[in-house]
Amino acid sequence: MIFKERVSLVTGASQGIGEAIAEELGREGATVVLVDIQKEKLDQVAERLSAAGIKAIPFEADVSDSARVTRVVEEVISSLGRIDHLINNAGITRDTLLLRMKEEEWDLVLQINLKGAFNFCRAALKSMFNARYGRIVNIASVVGLMGNVGQTNYAASKAGLIGFSKSLAREVAPRGITVNCVAPGYIATPMTEKLPEEVKKAFLDIIPMKRFGLPVEVARVVKFLCSDDAAYITGQVISVNGGMYM
Ligand code: NAP
Repeated sequence: MIFKERVSLVTGASQGIGEAIAEELGREGATVVLVDIQKEKLDQVAERLSAAGIKAIPFEADVSDSARVTRVVEEVISSLGRIDHLINNAGITRDTLLLRMKEEEWDLVLQINLKGAFNFCRAALKSMFNARYGRIVNIASVVGLMGNVGQTNYAASKAGLIGFSKSLAREVAPRGITVNCVAPGYIATPMTEKLPEEVKKAFLDIIPMKRFGLPVEVARVVKFLCSDDAAYITGQVISVNGGMYM
């Protein structure tokens, strides 16, 4: 187990990619702090992971609420002493063409997908600075690299996350902290499940591997970026997309 004694905090951990990341890091011995917005779902995942022998601690929080995020990080530091891995995974979509997009749809996506990562990074960095160690992985998207019709808000948030991560990587590299992005393509999760069949088919047509990705295929890349093997990798965007965008 490569993460014994490590503490990993994963946002959006109660389903999909975040749940898979929490499980993957937990199986390597990390204590996983699960953050999500719905308490019931979160508690179920924490129970499931605990039953599998993983130390999982749930925290209900909206990542866009900076005061709440600060409190969560303070509680984690005071009870567990550290945050070694911070995985900013919580994200939402509010898809529509720009001409029809409401201001609230723009603001909400940016608040959660981009400001959420800012909130957690800012709150967790102090302890990482003191430890002179840290791994931050921000979950971006293929859409932040290539754009997509109906997703101007989402693409802006994910492209913003990439620029944010590269800038932060430069700021914190001298302190032994790495900051990278993982950019998934189309991964089968509750987020993509709700897309209309014709949209799913259109995606499949442009994926050279002719299948959708699995959450665990993203989680394994996150695990690698958190490991000692990735110590000299920072400011990078690793795509996990079956060749959809090269
Ligand atoms: P998902 O199935 O919708 O899971 C996201 C989780 O984040 C949900 O449990 C959601 O709770 C939670 N969440 C939403 N808003 C939150 C908030 N304000 N504070 C805390 N938690 C919040 O999504 P996913 O497919 O696993 O995606 C995970 C990440 O990967 C996202 O950042 C997404 O943009 C990115 N991504 C996904 C794909 C894909 O194909 N699936 C592709 C590229 C990138 P609720 O269910 O209650 O909203």
